[in-house]
Amino acid sequence: MKILILGASFGGITTAYELRKRLSPRQCEIMVIAKDPRFTFIPSLPWVALGSRSLDQISFDLAGTFDRKEIEFVHAGVTRIEPESRQVLTDAGQYPYDVLVIATGHRSANEAVPGLGPFDGPAHSLMSPPEAEEAREALRTFLDAPGPMVMGCAPGASCIGPAYEFVFQVDYLLRRRRMRHRVPIAFVTPEPFLGHFGVGGIGKARQFLEGEFEQRDIRYFTSAAVSKITGSAVELADGATFESAFSLIIPPLAGVKAIAESPDLGNPKGFVPVDENYRHQTFSDIYAVGVAVAFPPVDETPVPVNFPKTGHMTEQMAAMAAHNIAAEVLGDGKIARPLHAECILDMGDRAALIKADPFRPPRNVARFSEGRRWLWAKKAFERYYLWKTGRGKTVAGEWGW
Ligand SMILES: Cc1cc2nc3c(=O)[nH]c(=O)nc-3n(C[C@H](O)[C@H](O)[C@H](O)COP(=O)(O)OP(=O)(O)OC[C@H]3O[C@@H](n4cnc5c(N)ncnc54)[C@H](O)[C@@H]3O)c2cc1C
Repeated sequence: MKILILGASFGGITTAYELRKRLSPRQCEIMVIAKDPRFTFIPSLPWVALGSRSLDQISFDLAGTFDRKEIEFVHAGVTRIEPESRQVLTDAGQYPYDVLVIATGHRSANEAVPGLGPFDGPAHSLMSPPEAEEAREALRTFLDAPGPMVMGCAPGASCIGPAYEFVFQVDYLLRRRRMRHRVPIAFVTPEPFLGHFGVGGIGKARQFLEGEFEQRDIRYFTSAAVSKITGSAVELADGATFESAFSLIIPPLAGVKAIAESPDLGNPKGFVPVDENYRHQTFSDIYAVGVAVAFPPVDETPVPVNFPKTGHMTEQMAAMAAHNIAAEVLGDGKIARPLHAECILDMGDRAALIKADPFRPPRNVARFSEGRRWLWAKKAFERYYLWKTGRGKTVAGEWGW
């Protein structure tokens, strides 16, 4: 039996390791195909943009790591999947499969707003390693000739946490350099209130974030629909215009082209529709995990905000998909559990722990706690994750971190 996994980030790596735990090399051949030869710890990208980490410090080579687990790694870009003939087409050849797991994450849908960038327009972003590096260079240039800044998210965004992290960390950096008085900051978000996060809010996040923005003198605009970004301004659909010498706007996401262009595989946005076992709704030999999965928003908001898919949730999905694939082989029962989330939001001088279980409301647990200890915990977790995953082990307990 041959299991093919597309993508080697949180979703792909965890699925591969969890499958190898359950199925020996005699029971199944596992192959991972990814277009990036290195794993990058994406949650640290704001630190790359702020200059406190290099990409080398937060990444490791995939080939050697997979080798230890008798998992074959192919460095290639997937161009198309043919579900009927069970073939994956790549720029380095064609690969057959018995079971396929899609963990290809997202594409930034920069076409949604003129000017979203950085490689399509003048705005900056944090959604990938090259974008974080570009933001770091732009920030360096900005600090030599500061002016007003606009940060936030575009309509339809789902990965909202990093926008908060970035605005707080920039505020802290400017204060440390005694430059904050020269930089008016505006935060624009499609969320109906601060701390909605695409999940209807979490505990006291709203009250806390409103207080924090006021304390830090950051003007904020909710239900804001960014409609255009130029080199000197950010415009909203209601006609408001903010002068800006540095704009970092998180885009809405879509599924990657390879999924969008494969027959009957994705929804119109290119995300993969799955059942509660993370199995494709039409093709029973295809599973999907992580950002590649299609989830509906939790509520209707005046400006669209989408449901986030965090790394923590991605690992839970991967563990469940691996369990369910192995269950088919071993004749065990399948599992389906609601996703929960735990995230630490770096605010520069301290951090906030956000915990929601289940993530989709109503919930049993909704916790928001802030303090310096969470900043240390976030830094320690990054080191621990890279150390453990780089040695072929999952950080996830049975169902998540
Ligand atoms: C700035 C930022 C900060 C974040 N902070 C946190 C946090 O603090 N906590 C948290 O839990 N989550 C956080 N997240 C979310 C987290 O990073 C994602 O949920 C996670 O990366 C999703 O993992 P994934 O495996 O689904 O996809 P991705 O990480 O997007 O990986 C996709 C994989 O697919 C491969 N791929 C893509 N297209 C192709 C193709 N055509 N062919 C072959 N391979 C392909 C890529 O090479 C990569 O290996 C953050 C995200 C961002 C952007």
